[in-house]
Amino acid sequence: MTREFTCIVCPNGCRIAVEYEIPAAAGASAPVIRSISGNLCPRGIEYVTQELTDPRRTIATSVLVEGGELPLASVRLTAPIPRDRIFDAMAVIRTLTVQAPVTAGTILVHDLLGLGTDVLVTRDVPAR
Ligand code: SF4
Repeated sequence: MTREFTCIVCPNGCRIAVEYEIPAAAGASAPVIRSISGNLCPRGIEYVTQELTDPRRTIATSVLVEGGELPLASVRLTAPIPRDRIFDAMAVIRTLTVQAPVTAGTILVHDLLGLGTDVLVTRDVPAR
């Protein structure tokens, strides 16, 4: 199989082409990379390997603030989570409402969905 990726590890954004196989052995699911090209550094190989075996994404969004100078406070995850859990994570984050004042660095949810990541406030919102 062949796939192309755009590496997002650094601003170079290398277009990386990879040929790989999924082993036929029972229970095997980790792809075996046969060739890789287009990466300017080894981190591109790590990125593609992660994408093929366990793709992860992070979330940067906002939550509602009650009684604040702004209606929303920006938040992000402290670590990426499996891509197929993004919708579950967003469903939880959408339910969050915080009371002003809100301070950057505050953890709103610890170990979100048991995924080993927290929901972190990234912007202060003073009270009205
Ligand atoms: S392969 Fe290396 S140089 Fe290219 S985008 Fe990825 S990290 Fe940057």
